[in-house]
Amino acid sequence: MTKYELVCGLETHIELATKTKIFCSCTTEFGGEPNTHCCPICIGLPGTLPKLNKRVVEYAILAGLATNCEISRISKMDRKNYVYPDLPKAYQISQYDMPLCKNGWVELSNGRKIRLTRIHIEEDAGKLVHQRSNTYVDYNRGGVPLIEIVSEPDIRSIDEAKEYLEKLQLIMRFIGVSDCKMQEGSMRCDVNISVRPVGSEEFGTRTEIKNMNSFAHMAKAMDYEINRQIDLLESGEQVVQETRRYNEEEESTESMRGKEDAHDYRYFREPDLVTIQVSEEMISELKKKLPELPQQKAKRYMEELGLPEADALLLTQYRRISEYFEAAIKGVKNPKTVANCIIGQMFSRLEGEGAKENFSVKVTPENLNALVRLLDEGKIRMNLLKATLEKMLDTGKKPSELISESDMGGLDPDALRAACEQAISANQNAVSDYLGGKEKALKAILGTVMKATRGKADAIEAEKLLVQLIKK
Ligand code: ADP
Ligand code: MG
Ligand code: ZN
Repeated sequence: MTKYELVCGLETHIELATKTKIFCSCTTEFGGEPNTHCCPICIGLPGTLPKLNKRVVEYAILAGLATNCEISRISKMDRKNYVYPDLPKAYQISQYDMPLCKNGWVELSNGRKIRLTRIHIEEDAGKLVHQRSNTYVDYNRGGVPLIEIVSEPDIRSIDEAKEYLEKLQLIMRFIGVSDCKMQEGSMRCDVNISVRPVGSEEFGTRTEIKNMNSFAHMAKAMDYEINRQIDLLESGEQVVQETRRYNEEEESTESMRGKEDAHDYRYFREPDLVTIQVSEEMISELKKKLPELPQQKAKRYMEELGLPEADALLLTQYRRISEYFEAAIKGVKNPKTVANCIIGQMFSRLEGEGAKENFSVKVTPENLNALVRLLDEGKIRMNLLKATLEKMLDTGKKPSELISESDMGGLDPDALRAACEQAISANQNAVSDYLGGKEKALKAILGTVMKATRGKADAIEAEKLLVQLIKK
């Protein structure tokens, strides 16, 4: 049987996080009573004139710079004509042959670069709401600014498609141009799929699956579509170039309409808007605003700070977390300790993506820094650090308010010995279990020591001493 290979390119729509819409001053806020975030411009009344929001251009350029694109010094807006109730003007203002950004790429963890054909700006359409047998239209989303990021057909597996999209999401969140929430529709993508026999250079006929709004749906839709196309080819039939939709219940894709060509849209220049000119100064100003990107950051955490890759990746998923981490490691001997505090103890208190994105914890990075320095200076041990951090997370207090002078400097050897001896005599059953070969029984005795010394004892030292005393 012939072996097939996937060829896939994504068109990703991302809503920009500007306060106001692309051509008017209405709010872009998600939700709201239907048709309350609207004005004559964004519902397309005749006689109104659009005015391009400068922020939209800036955000799109930032997105382009962060994905290695060339920024066009001159571009323009065009009308894409189609008739559908979500589009009151019967045309969408978009960019056709002169997009704002071109020729970029996103690098995957396997080292492959997915090339970006272009990034252009456009307005979002309204939303159709189907209720029983009626359809209503809500124009709140109409005129919300979007960027559309078009990739070359460089993607070769479902995993690569997912990773590419995750990378885009991470980058756009990091540079602050979008929250990229797939479930709220601020990031959605169209997946173009074809298959070809392995070794063949030519592309097969593609289909396009519209509007994927979750990673899980995208993976399922792709899997179904790849197999559908292979089955067609294997049985001597042909793939028809068309637009398809994903059916959640059936976990399959179904035909929506034949594929439209560019000429179907009768593109022409938007006569109500001037040419977009981007100066060299504007580009260099925006370059300065661009933060260090997550991939570079993760690399630096590994190379300069000696963090394991898994930690580096976790700490660079969200901008706030990486900023917190960087503030907390200032002057500490071992950044890994700080990483452990964040990943181990702080993350376990944060439920869900939103919580990590906001990353609001009661401990300031300065206080975490102070705590870790106490460990560096040998004033406290790891177990006291952990216990104190828990209290800090509960109360927001400084380490100096929670650790007394007498707690610092650890436990002197005599006190440790006394605590161990007491723990042994209080846990005679555990001692005989241990002597009978139950290694775990030692933990119970150790627990008593730690409790009695209020976490001041060094757990490793205490354990050693317990074994000595028991075997004596
Ligand atoms: P449109 O959908 O507007 O006609 P394009 O023809 O430029 O736009 O292609 C849209 C997307 O389809 C791009 O992401 C591109 O990489 C992808 N694509 C083009 N040809 C193929 C193909 N044969 N197989 C899979 N994807 C393809
Ligand atoms: Mg398309
Ligand atoms: Zn408006």
